[in-house]
Amino acid sequence: MKIFISADIEGVAGVVLPVQGEPGNVEYEHARRLMTEEVNAAIEGAFAGGAVEVLVNDSHGPMTNLVPDLLDPRAELIRGNIKPGGMFAGLDDTYSGAMCLGYHAAAAEHGVLAHTTSSNAFSAIRLNGMAASEAMFYGAYAGAMGVPVILLSGDDVTERSCGGLFPGAEFVRVKVAFGQRAARALSPHTARTRIREGAERAVRAAGTIKPYRIAEPCDVVFDLTSVTLADVCATIPSSIRYAPTTVGFKAENILDAIRWMRVCSMLSAHIR
Ligand SMILES: [Zn+2]
Repeated sequence: MKIFISADIEGVAGVVLPVQGEPGNVEYEHARRLMTEEVNAAIEGAFAGGAVEVLVNDSHGPMTNLVPDLLDPRAELIRGNIKPGGMFAGLDDTYSGAMCLGYHAAAAEHGVLAHTTSSNAFSAIRLNGMAASEAMFYGAYAGAMGVPVILLSGDDVTERSCGGLFPGAEFVRVKVAFGQRAARALSPHTARTRIREGAERAVRAAGTIKPYRIAEPCDVVFDLTSVTLADVCATIPSSIRYAPTTVGFKAENILDAIRWMRVCSMLSAHIR
């Protein structure tokens, strides 16, 4: 049985500040180690549950956060950005389950470091009319391949908004949000224990969990953070301008919806 792990940083126990996800400071150097150890706990649980192969995709920012020589050597690691499939790069239909570790609530939700793909670009995103988180986008991407999300970890807001999308999946709540930049958290040690135990149960149950599927073609609508950015996104052929700060696309499938999201996100880096 092959298991896929997508690892983000905002939902890791002990992480509450943007600077903890930004390379070039001591807070980040500490946070990336906390992230790596939560991933190690999931790898350990996955093998204990019957996995024979575990692939980890670094899914935050530059996607070079996990410390390679601290990672459980039984797993292989995908590092770097930009890559096809983004946060779920490397996944294919030969996997029995996917895990979303260190995930966070969607843009406009009241969770720790809540955003969807880019807080610089998006104040909210809707996918087929539903408020969309990264877990929703990439869970649907996996679901289109027939792969179920079997475990997620993060804060209580993420659990409430994303947990229901994946019936039967384990959710490991490692912190309770007090706001965008504050939380009450488990100790890293306890968080890892619960992730290891949850991962083992999740892998044992993988065959019973249904993939999350959304209707395709799909509507993806972006509330941009400025009218200027919306003007730029609206220059893309086939875009639809719904409002001064709202632009959307009719996407053939979930992968194309993710591609549009990433295009608009990258364009935001060029707006001043
Ligand atoms: Zn992230």
